[in-house]
Amino acid sequence: MSMITFDNTYSKLPNDFFSHTTPSKFIHSKLLAVNYELCEHLGIQTDPFSEFKSIFSGVKTPSSAANISLAYAGHQFGNFVPRLGDGRAILLGEILAKNGERYDLQFKGSGPTLFSRGGDGKYPLGPAMREFILSEAMFHLGVPTSRCLAIFNTGEQLLRTRKLSGGLVTRVASSHIRIGTFEYFAHSKDIDHLKILLNYSIKRHYPEINGEYEVNFFHEVVKNQAKLIAKWMSIGFIHGVMNTDNVAISGETLDYGPCAFLDDYNSSKVFSSIDHFGRYAYNNQAAIGYWNCSKLLECLSLLLSSQGLSGHEILQPILDLFPKYYEEYWLKHMEKKLGFASSSNEFKHLIEKFLHCLEAEKLDYTQSFSNLYHCLKEDWQAYFPKTFHSFFKNWFEVIRSPHNDDRHSIHLLKSHNPIYIPRNHQIEKIIHEAYQGNYKSFKLFYDLVKDPFEKKSHGDPFEKPPLDSQKVIHTFCGT
Ligand code: AMP
Ligand code: MG
Repeated sequence: MSMITFDNTYSKLPNDFFSHTTPSKFIHSKLLAVNYELCEHLGIQTDPFSEFKSIFSGVKTPSSAANISLAYAGHQFGNFVPRLGDGRAILLGEILAKNGERYDLQFKGSGPTLFSRGGDGKYPLGPAMREFILSEAMFHLGVPTSRCLAIFNTGEQLLRTRKLSGGLVTRVASSHIRIGTFEYFAHSKDIDHLKILLNYSIKRHYPEINGEYEVNFFHEVVKNQAKLIAKWMSIGFIHGVMNTDNVAISGETLDYGPCAFLDDYNSSKVFSSIDHFGRYAYNNQAAIGYWNCSKLLECLSLLLSSQGLSGHEILQPILDLFPKYYEEYWLKHMEKKLGFASSSNEFKHLIEKFLHCLEAEKLDYTQSFSNLYHCLKEDWQAYFPKTFHSFFKNWFEVIRSPHNDDRHSIHLLKSHNPIYIPRNHQIEKIIHEAYQGNYKSFKLFYDLVKDPFEKKSHGDPFEKPPLDSQKVIHTFCGT
Protein backbone atom coordinates (compact mmCIF):
# COMPACT_ATOMS: atom_id res chain seq x y z
CA MET A 1 0.00 0.00 0.00
CA SER A 2 1.46 3.32 -1.06
CA MET A 3 1.33 6.46 1.10
CA ILE A 4 -0.54 8.18 -1.76
CA THR A 5 -3.69 7.17 -3.54
CA PHE A 6 -4.54 9.20 -6.60
CA ASP A 7 -8.11 9.83 -7.64
CA ASN A 8 -7.79 10.37 -11.36
CA THR A 9 -10.33 11.95 -13.68
CA TYR A 10 -8.30 13.60 -16.47
CA SER A 11 -6.68 10.32 -17.47
CA LYS A 12 -10.19 8.93 -18.02
CA LEU A 13 -10.83 11.48 -20.77
CA PRO A 14 -10.35 10.27 -24.39
CA ASN A 15 -6.82 9.38 -25.46
CA ASP A 16 -6.34 12.56 -27.52
CA PHE A 17 -6.10 14.59 -24.31
CA PHE A 18 -2.77 13.12 -23.18
CA SER A 19 -0.03 10.61 -23.72
CA HIS A 20 1.15 7.98 -21.22
CA THR A 21 4.74 8.58 -20.12
CA THR A 22 7.12 7.02 -17.65
CA PRO A 23 8.94 9.49 -15.37
CA SER A 24 12.70 9.16 -14.92
CA LYS A 25 13.86 7.54 -11.69
CA PHE A 26 16.38 9.86 -10.05
CA ILE A 27 18.22 7.36 -7.88
CA HIS A 28 21.09 9.73 -7.04
CA SER A 29 18.94 12.74 -6.28
CA LYS A 30 19.16 14.95 -3.23
CA LEU A 31 16.02 16.35 -1.61
CA LEU A 32 16.42 20.10 -1.11
CA ALA A 33 13.11 21.16 0.40
CA VAL A 34 9.66 19.90 1.27
CA ASN A 35 6.61 22.11 1.51
CA TYR A 36 5.28 20.61 4.73
CA GLU A 37 2.39 23.04 4.96
CA LEU A 38 1.20 21.96 1.51
CA CYS A 39 1.65 18.28 2.39
CA GLU A 40 -0.53 18.86 5.42
CA HIS A 41 -3.17 20.65 3.33
CA LEU A 42 -3.22 17.82 0.81
CA GLY A 43 -3.17 15.13 3.47
CA ILE A 44 0.11 13.70 2.18
CA GLN A 45 2.15 12.01 4.88
CA THR A 46 5.89 12.53 4.96
CA ASP A 47 6.39 9.55 7.22
CA PRO A 48 8.10 7.20 6.39
CA PHE A 49 10.35 9.84 4.90
CA SER A 50 12.27 7.36 2.77
CA GLU A 51 9.07 6.48 0.95
CA PHE A 52 8.16 10.14 0.49
CA LYS A 53 11.58 10.72 -1.07
CA SER A 54 11.26 7.68 -3.31
CA ILE A 55 7.88 8.77 -4.66
CA PHE A 56 8.78 12.39 -5.29
CA SER A 57 12.10 11.60 -6.96
CA GLY A 58 10.34 9.23 -9.37
CA VAL A 59 12.03 6.13 -7.93
CA LYS A 60 8.84 4.55 -6.65
CA THR A 61 5.59 4.95 -8.56
CA PRO A 62 2.35 4.59 -6.59
CA SER A 63 0.15 2.03 -8.30
CA SER A 64 -2.66 4.57 -8.68
CA ALA A 65 -0.47 7.09 -10.58
CA ALA A 66 -1.81 8.26 -13.96
CA ASN A 67 1.59 9.24 -15.43
CA ILE A 68 0.36 11.26 -18.38
CA SER A 69 1.62 14.28 -20.27
CA LEU A 70 -1.12 16.63 -21.35
CA ALA A 71 -1.73 17.84 -24.87
CA TYR A 72 -2.20 21.53 -25.55
CA ALA A 73 -1.54 24.19 -28.16
CA GLY A 74 -0.94 27.88 -27.61
CA HIS A 75 -0.20 31.34 -28.91
CA GLN A 76 3.43 32.08 -28.12
CA PHE A 77 4.19 35.80 -28.39
CA GLY A 78 1.10 36.08 -30.59
CA ASN A 79 1.97 33.20 -32.96
CA PHE A 80 -0.12 30.07 -32.94
CA VAL A 81 1.62 26.72 -32.34
CA PRO A 82 -0.86 23.87 -32.87
CA ARG A 83 0.96 21.34 -30.72
CA LEU A 84 2.95 22.15 -27.59
CA GLY A 85 1.96 19.94 -24.66
CA ASP A 86 3.84 18.88 -21.56
CA GLY A 87 7.34 18.56 -22.94
CA ARG A 88 8.99 18.29 -19.55
CA ALA A 89 6.09 17.53 -17.25
CA ILE A 90 4.20 14.43 -16.24
CA LEU A 91 0.94 14.45 -14.34
CA LEU A 92 1.33 11.94 -11.55
CA GLY A 93 -2.33 12.12 -10.73
CA GLU A 94 -5.01 13.99 -8.85
CA ILE A 95 -5.45 14.07 -5.14
CA LEU A 96 -8.35 15.14 -2.98
CA ALA A 97 -7.21 17.49 -0.22
CA LYS A 98 -8.59 17.24 3.28
CA ASN A 99 -11.15 19.94 2.45
CA GLY A 100 -12.33 18.01 -0.60
CA GLU A 101 -10.59 20.23 -3.19
CA ARG A 102 -9.04 18.40 -6.13
CA TYR A 103 -5.41 19.05 -7.09
CA ASP A 104 -3.05 17.87 -9.82
CA LEU A 105 0.36 16.59 -8.73
CA GLN A 106 2.79 16.96 -11.57
CA PHE A 107 6.48 16.26 -12.00
CA LYS A 108 8.33 19.01 -13.82
CA GLY A 109 11.72 17.98 -15.15
CA SER A 110 11.13 14.25 -15.22
CA GLY A 111 12.38 13.50 -18.72
CA PRO A 112 11.19 13.39 -22.31
CA THR A 113 7.56 12.95 -23.33
CA LEU A 114 5.68 12.69 -26.61
CA PHE A 115 5.57 16.49 -26.59
CA SER A 116 9.27 17.20 -25.98
CA ARG A 117 9.95 18.27 -29.60
CA GLY A 118 13.65 17.46 -29.40
CA GLY A 119 14.10 18.79 -25.85
CA ASP A 120 15.40 16.58 -23.05
CA GLY A 121 12.35 17.06 -20.84
CA LYS A 122 14.60 18.10 -17.96
CA TYR A 123 14.55 21.19 -15.74
CA PRO A 124 17.81 22.84 -14.71
CA LEU A 125 18.11 23.28 -10.96
CA GLY A 126 18.19 27.10 -11.12
CA PRO A 127 14.80 27.60 -12.79
CA ALA A 128 13.36 24.78 -10.68
CA MET A 129 14.39 26.67 -7.53
CA ARG A 130 13.00 29.88 -8.97
CA GLU A 131 9.64 28.20 -9.50
CA PHE A 132 9.73 26.69 -6.01
CA ILE A 133 10.41 29.99 -4.23
CA LEU A 134 8.43 32.30 -6.47
CA SER A 135 5.25 30.24 -6.38
CA GLU A 136 5.40 29.91 -2.61
CA ALA A 137 6.03 33.64 -2.23
CA MET A 138 3.06 34.37 -4.47
CA PHE A 139 0.83 32.07 -2.47
CA HIS A 140 1.69 33.89 0.76
CA LEU A 141 1.17 37.24 -0.94
CA GLY A 142 -2.40 36.12 -1.54
CA VAL A 143 -2.09 35.38 -5.27
CA PRO A 144 -3.92 32.39 -6.79
CA THR A 145 -1.08 30.15 -7.95
CA SER A 146 0.27 26.69 -8.56
CA ARG A 147 2.67 25.63 -5.78
CA CYS A 148 5.52 23.17 -5.34
CA LEU A 149 5.47 20.24 -2.95
CA ALA A 150 9.11 19.19 -3.11
CA ILE A 151 12.32 20.00 -4.95
CA PHE A 152 15.26 17.72 -5.71
CA ASN A 153 18.68 18.14 -7.18
CA THR A 154 18.52 15.15 -9.53
CA GLY A 155 22.27 14.54 -9.45
CA GLU A 156 22.37 14.74 -13.25
CA GLN A 157 24.26 17.24 -15.35
CA LEU A 158 22.18 18.85 -18.10
CA LEU A 159 23.69 20.19 -21.26
CA ARG A 160 22.66 23.79 -21.87
CA THR A 161 24.96 26.66 -22.93
CA ARG A 162 27.03 25.18 -20.11
CA LYS A 163 26.60 22.12 -17.92
CA LEU A 164 23.98 22.63 -15.21
CA SER A 165 22.72 20.46 -12.36
CA GLY A 166 19.25 19.07 -12.98
CA GLY A 167 16.22 19.83 -10.81
CA LEU A 168 12.87 18.18 -10.26
CA VAL A 169 9.83 19.80 -8.71
CA THR A 170 6.42 18.40 -7.92
CA ARG A 171 3.99 21.06 -8.98
CA VAL A 172 0.56 21.26 -7.40
CA ALA A 173 -2.25 23.09 -9.17
CA SER A 174 -6.01 22.99 -9.09
CA SER A 175 -5.65 21.72 -12.67
CA HIS A 176 -3.37 22.18 -15.67
CA ILE A 177 -6.12 23.04 -18.15
CA ARG A 178 -5.00 26.03 -20.17
CA ILE A 179 -6.55 28.29 -22.78
CA GLY A 180 -4.12 26.40 -25.01
CA THR A 181 -5.90 23.13 -24.20
CA PHE A 182 -9.05 24.56 -25.78
CA GLU A 183 -7.02 25.86 -28.72
CA TYR A 184 -5.60 22.37 -29.27
CA PHE A 185 -9.01 20.96 -30.13
CA ALA A 186 -10.39 24.14 -31.69
CA HIS A 187 -7.58 24.15 -34.23
CA SER A 188 -8.86 20.93 -35.80
CA LYS A 189 -12.49 22.05 -35.30
CA ASP A 190 -12.96 19.02 -33.09
CA ILE A 191 -16.34 19.92 -31.61
CA ASP A 192 -16.76 16.62 -29.76
CA HIS A 193 -13.52 16.96 -27.83
CA LEU A 194 -14.10 20.66 -27.22
CA LYS A 195 -17.44 19.79 -25.66
CA ILE A 196 -15.86 17.14 -23.47
CA LEU A 197 -13.18 19.62 -22.38
CA LEU A 198 -15.74 22.31 -21.59
CA ASN A 199 -17.91 19.93 -19.57
CA TYR A 200 -14.89 18.61 -17.71
CA SER A 201 -13.59 22.13 -16.97
CA ILE A 202 -16.96 23.29 -15.68
CA LYS A 203 -17.38 20.25 -13.49
CA ARG A 204 -13.91 20.68 -12.07
CA HIS A 205 -13.67 24.44 -11.66
CA TYR A 206 -17.07 26.04 -11.97
CA PRO A 207 -19.56 23.40 -10.83
CA GLU A 208 -22.12 26.06 -9.89
CA ILE A 209 -22.74 26.73 -13.61
CA ASN A 210 -25.94 25.09 -14.80
CA GLY A 211 -27.07 26.29 -18.19
CA GLU A 212 -25.67 28.49 -20.99
CA TYR A 213 -22.42 26.64 -20.42
CA GLU A 214 -20.18 28.38 -22.96
CA VAL A 215 -21.33 31.84 -21.89
CA ASN A 216 -21.14 31.28 -18.16
CA PHE A 217 -17.83 29.46 -18.31
CA PHE A 218 -16.33 32.23 -20.43
CA HIS A 219 -17.63 34.82 -17.99
CA GLU A 220 -15.94 33.07 -15.05
CA VAL A 221 -12.62 32.75 -16.87
CA VAL A 222 -12.68 36.41 -17.96
CA LYS A 223 -13.46 37.52 -14.41
CA ASN A 224 -10.75 35.35 -12.89
CA GLN A 225 -8.10 36.47 -15.38
CA ALA A 226 -8.93 40.12 -14.68
CA LYS A 227 -8.76 39.39 -10.95
CA LEU A 228 -5.45 37.56 -11.21
CA ILE A 229 -3.72 40.20 -13.30
CA ALA A 230 -5.00 43.01 -11.04
CA LYS A 231 -3.40 41.17 -8.13
CA TRP A 232 -0.11 40.73 -10.03
CA MET A 233 -0.05 44.44 -10.80
CA SER A 234 -0.69 45.39 -7.19
CA ILE A 235 2.38 43.51 -5.99
CA GLY A 236 4.63 44.55 -8.90
CA PHE A 237 4.78 41.09 -10.50
CA ILE A 238 5.67 40.60 -14.16
CA HIS A 239 4.82 37.13 -15.46
CA GLY A 240 7.02 37.54 -18.49
CA VAL A 241 5.56 34.86 -20.76
CA MET A 242 1.79 35.21 -20.85
CA ASN A 243 1.39 32.88 -23.80
CA THR A 244 -2.04 31.21 -23.97
CA ASP A 245 -0.42 27.85 -23.13
CA ASN A 246 0.59 29.38 -19.80
CA VAL A 247 -2.86 30.65 -18.89
CA ALA A 248 -4.76 28.33 -16.55
CA ILE A 249 -8.53 28.48 -16.87
CA SER A 250 -8.72 28.14 -13.07
CA GLY A 251 -7.32 31.67 -12.73
CA GLU A 252 -4.14 30.49 -11.02
CA THR A 253 -0.68 31.77 -11.91
CA LEU A 254 1.04 29.08 -13.96
CA ASP A 255 4.57 28.72 -15.31
CA TYR A 256 7.24 30.65 -13.50
CA GLY A 257 9.72 31.22 -16.29
CA PRO A 258 11.31 34.63 -16.77
CA CYS A 259 8.95 36.22 -14.24
CA ALA A 260 10.25 38.92 -11.93
CA PHE A 261 9.22 41.56 -9.43
CA LEU A 262 9.66 45.26 -10.04
CA ASP A 263 12.44 46.88 -8.10
CA ASP A 264 12.16 50.61 -8.86
CA TYR A 265 8.78 51.50 -10.28
CA ASN A 266 9.02 51.56 -14.05
CA SER A 267 5.60 51.00 -15.52
CA SER A 268 6.84 49.69 -18.87
CA LYS A 269 9.42 47.35 -17.35
CA VAL A 270 10.38 44.16 -19.23
CA PHE A 271 12.81 41.62 -17.77
CA SER A 272 12.50 38.64 -20.09
CA SER A 273 15.46 38.30 -22.42
CA ILE A 274 13.22 37.03 -25.23
CA ASP A 275 10.50 39.69 -24.98
CA HIS A 276 12.09 42.00 -27.53
CA PHE A 277 9.04 44.17 -28.19
CA GLY A 278 7.73 44.41 -24.63
CA ARG A 279 4.60 42.40 -25.39
CA TYR A 280 4.56 41.18 -21.78
CA ALA A 281 5.72 44.43 -20.18
CA TYR A 282 4.41 45.22 -16.69
CA ASN A 283 1.85 47.75 -17.91
CA ASN A 284 0.73 45.61 -20.83
CA GLN A 285 -0.38 42.63 -18.76
CA ALA A 286 -4.06 43.58 -18.51
CA ALA A 287 -4.27 44.18 -22.27
CA ILE A 288 -2.66 40.79 -22.86
CA GLY A 289 -5.09 39.19 -20.41
CA TYR A 290 -7.89 40.55 -22.60
CA TRP A 291 -6.17 39.29 -25.74
CA ASN A 292 -5.67 35.82 -24.24
CA CYS A 293 -9.34 35.65 -23.32
CA SER A 294 -10.19 36.62 -26.91
CA LYS A 295 -8.43 33.41 -27.99
CA LEU A 296 -10.63 31.39 -25.62
CA LEU A 297 -13.62 33.25 -27.08
CA GLU A 298 -12.72 31.92 -30.53
CA CYS A 299 -12.68 28.32 -29.22
CA LEU A 300 -15.99 28.61 -27.37
CA SER A 301 -17.50 30.41 -30.33
CA LEU A 302 -16.98 27.24 -32.39
CA LEU A 303 -19.14 25.36 -29.92
CA LEU A 304 -21.89 27.95 -30.13
CA SER A 305 -21.68 28.02 -33.93
CA SER A 306 -22.14 24.25 -33.99
CA GLN A 307 -25.48 24.90 -32.29
CA GLY A 308 -26.44 27.42 -35.00
CA LEU A 309 -25.67 30.42 -32.79
CA SER A 310 -23.39 33.38 -33.43
CA GLY A 311 -20.59 32.80 -30.94
CA HIS A 312 -18.87 36.13 -31.42
CA GLU A 313 -22.03 38.13 -30.94
CA ILE A 314 -22.86 36.26 -27.76
CA LEU A 315 -19.40 36.20 -26.20
CA GLN A 316 -17.93 39.57 -27.20
CA PRO A 317 -20.03 41.55 -24.67
CA ILE A 318 -18.58 39.32 -21.94
CA LEU A 319 -15.04 39.86 -23.12
CA ASP A 320 -15.76 43.58 -23.09
CA LEU A 321 -16.35 43.33 -19.34
CA PHE A 322 -12.68 42.50 -18.84
CA PRO A 323 -11.45 46.13 -18.46
CA LYS A 324 -14.26 46.93 -16.03
CA TYR A 325 -13.51 43.89 -13.85
CA TYR A 326 -9.79 44.57 -14.01
CA GLU A 327 -10.18 48.18 -12.93
CA GLU A 328 -12.50 47.24 -10.06
CA TYR A 329 -10.11 44.61 -8.69
CA TRP A 330 -7.07 46.80 -9.19
CA LEU A 331 -8.64 49.75 -7.42
CA LYS A 332 -9.64 47.57 -4.47
CA HIS A 333 -6.08 46.31 -4.03
CA MET A 334 -4.49 49.71 -4.44
CA GLU A 335 -6.89 51.40 -2.00
CA LYS A 336 -5.90 48.83 0.59
CA LYS A 337 -2.22 49.35 -0.16
CA LEU A 338 -2.70 53.05 0.55
CA GLY A 339 -4.50 52.20 3.79
CA PHE A 340 -7.92 53.52 2.81
CA ALA A 341 -10.53 51.85 4.94
CA SER A 342 -13.31 52.72 2.51
CA SER A 343 -13.74 53.09 -1.23
CA SER A 344 -14.21 56.32 -3.15
CA ASN A 345 -14.04 57.45 -6.76
CA GLU A 346 -11.50 60.10 -5.76
CA PHE A 347 -8.95 57.53 -4.62
CA LYS A 348 -8.00 56.50 -8.14
CA HIS A 349 -6.48 59.91 -8.72
CA LEU A 350 -4.49 59.64 -5.53
CA ILE A 351 -3.20 56.17 -6.36
CA GLU A 352 -2.09 57.40 -9.77
CA LYS A 353 -0.41 60.40 -8.19
CA PHE A 354 1.59 58.14 -5.89
CA LEU A 355 2.63 55.87 -8.77
CA HIS A 356 3.54 58.86 -10.90
CA CYS A 357 5.82 60.21 -8.15
CA LEU A 358 7.38 56.77 -7.64
CA GLU A 359 8.17 56.51 -11.34
CA ALA A 360 9.56 60.03 -11.58
CA GLU A 361 11.84 59.43 -8.58
CA LYS A 362 12.66 55.82 -9.58
CA LEU A 363 11.78 54.59 -6.10
CA ASP A 364 11.46 50.98 -5.09
CA TYR A 365 7.86 49.81 -5.53
CA THR A 366 7.61 47.37 -2.62
CA GLN A 367 9.62 49.39 -0.11
CA SER A 368 7.78 52.62 -0.88
CA PHE A 369 4.44 51.04 -0.10
CA SER A 370 5.70 49.42 3.08
CA ASN A 371 7.18 52.80 4.13
CA LEU A 372 3.73 54.40 4.10
CA TYR A 373 3.04 52.73 7.43
CA HIS A 374 5.98 54.60 9.00
CA CYS A 375 4.67 57.89 7.64
CA LEU A 376 1.69 57.57 9.95
CA LYS A 377 3.93 58.12 12.97
CA GLU A 378 7.04 59.77 11.62
CA ASP A 379 7.80 62.64 9.26
CA TRP A 380 7.02 61.45 5.74
CA GLN A 381 10.05 63.39 4.49
CA ALA A 382 12.26 60.85 6.23
CA TYR A 383 11.06 58.32 3.67
CA PHE A 384 10.07 60.22 0.54
CA PRO A 385 11.51 63.16 -1.40
CA LYS A 386 9.86 66.61 -1.51
CA THR A 387 8.11 65.87 -4.80
CA PHE A 388 5.63 63.77 -2.80
CA HIS A 389 4.42 66.88 -0.95
CA SER A 390 1.11 67.18 -2.76
CA PHE A 391 0.46 63.46 -2.52
CA PHE A 392 1.01 63.40 1.24
CA LYS A 393 -1.16 66.46 1.76
CA ASN A 394 -4.06 64.61 0.08
CA TRP A 395 -3.20 61.28 1.68
CA PHE A 396 -3.25 62.66 5.21
CA GLU A 397 -6.55 64.39 4.48
CA VAL A 398 -8.07 60.98 3.77
CA ILE A 399 -6.25 59.01 6.45
CA ARG A 400 -6.87 61.58 9.20
CA SER A 401 -10.40 62.39 8.19
CA PRO A 402 -12.93 61.73 10.97
CA HIS A 403 -14.66 59.27 8.62
CA ASN A 404 -11.60 57.08 8.37
CA ASP A 405 -11.01 54.26 10.82
CA ASP A 406 -7.34 54.69 11.92
CA ARG A 407 -6.91 51.20 13.29
CA HIS A 408 -8.27 49.70 10.11
CA SER A 409 -5.86 51.82 8.05
CA ILE A 410 -2.89 50.63 10.09
CA HIS A 411 -4.01 47.06 9.62
CA LEU A 412 -4.45 47.53 5.86
CA LEU A 413 -1.07 49.18 5.40
CA LYS A 414 0.64 46.34 7.25
CA SER A 415 -1.27 43.47 5.71
CA HIS A 416 -1.23 44.60 2.08
CA ASN A 417 2.31 45.88 1.72
CA PRO A 418 4.86 43.08 1.99
CA ILE A 419 8.32 43.56 3.44
CA TYR A 420 9.78 40.53 1.66
CA ILE A 421 9.28 39.74 -1.98
CA PRO A 422 11.47 37.39 -4.01
CA ARG A 423 13.77 40.06 -5.34
CA ASN A 424 15.50 39.18 -8.58
CA HIS A 425 19.02 39.82 -7.39
CA GLN A 426 18.47 37.61 -4.34
CA ILE A 427 17.02 34.81 -6.45
CA GLU A 428 20.01 35.00 -8.80
CA LYS A 429 22.38 34.83 -5.84
CA ILE A 430 20.56 31.85 -4.35
CA ILE A 431 20.67 30.01 -7.68
CA HIS A 432 24.35 30.81 -8.16
CA GLU A 433 25.14 29.43 -4.70
CA ALA A 434 22.96 26.34 -5.25
CA TYR A 435 24.87 25.44 -8.42
CA GLN A 436 27.92 25.39 -6.16
CA GLY A 437 26.21 23.06 -3.71
CA ASN A 438 25.39 25.71 -1.10
CA TYR A 439 21.70 25.85 -0.17
CA LYS A 440 21.91 28.05 2.95
CA SER A 441 20.44 31.22 1.44
CA PHE A 442 17.80 29.17 -0.37
CA LYS A 443 16.52 27.76 2.91
CA LEU A 444 16.65 31.12 4.67
CA PHE A 445 14.82 32.89 1.87
CA TYR A 446 12.24 30.12 1.54
CA ASP A 447 11.34 30.70 5.21
CA LEU A 448 11.09 34.46 4.77
CA VAL A 449 8.75 34.41 1.78
CA LYS A 450 6.32 32.27 3.77
CA ASP A 451 5.65 35.20 6.11
CA PRO A 452 6.17 38.30 3.93
CA PHE A 453 4.39 40.91 6.03
CA GLU A 454 6.31 40.52 9.30
CA LYS A 455 9.75 42.03 9.69
CA LYS A 456 12.42 39.57 10.90
CA SER A 457 15.74 40.54 12.42
CA HIS A 458 17.65 38.15 10.12
CA GLY A 459 15.74 39.32 7.05
CA ASP A 460 17.54 42.62 6.40
CA PRO A 461 19.59 41.58 3.35
CA PHE A 462 16.44 40.20 1.73
CA GLU A 463 14.40 43.32 2.38
CA LYS A 464 16.59 45.90 0.71
CA PRO A 465 16.27 46.84 -2.96
CA PRO A 466 19.33 46.06 -5.08
CA LEU A 467 22.18 48.51 -5.46
CA ASP A 468 22.61 49.64 -9.05
CA SER A 469 25.45 47.16 -9.41
CA GLN A 470 23.23 44.30 -8.17
CA LYS A 471 20.26 44.98 -10.44
CA VAL A 472 19.13 42.12 -12.65
CA ILE A 473 18.68 43.36 -16.19
CA HIS A 474 17.38 40.20 -17.88
CA THR A 475 15.60 37.04 -16.78
CA PHE A 476 15.50 33.81 -18.77
CA CYS A 477 12.95 31.10 -19.57
CA GLY A 478 15.13 28.37 -18.11
CA THR A 479 14.15 25.48 -20.34
P1 AMP B 1 7.35 27.16 -21.31
O1 AMP B 1 8.11 28.30 -21.87
O2 AMP B 1 7.94 26.60 -20.05
O3 AMP B 1 5.90 27.46 -21.17
O4 AMP B 1 7.47 25.96 -22.37
C1 AMP B 1 6.98 26.04 -23.67
C2 AMP B 1 6.93 24.67 -24.28
O5 AMP B 1 8.25 24.12 -24.41
C3 AMP B 1 6.12 23.66 -23.47
O6 AMP B 1 5.44 22.82 -24.38
C4 AMP B 1 7.19 22.91 -22.72
O7 AMP B 1 6.77 21.63 -22.35
C5 AMP B 1 8.33 22.87 -23.74
N1 AMP B 1 9.65 22.71 -23.09
C6 AMP B 1 10.30 23.62 -22.34
N2 AMP B 1 11.48 23.14 -21.91
C7 AMP B 1 11.61 21.88 -22.39
C8 AMP B 1 12.59 20.84 -22.30
N3 AMP B 1 13.71 21.01 -21.60
N4 AMP B 1 12.37 19.68 -22.94
C9 AMP B 1 11.22 19.50 -23.63
N5 AMP B 1 10.26 20.42 -23.77
C10 AMP B 1 10.42 21.60 -23.16
MG1 MG C 1 4.44 26.57 -20.29
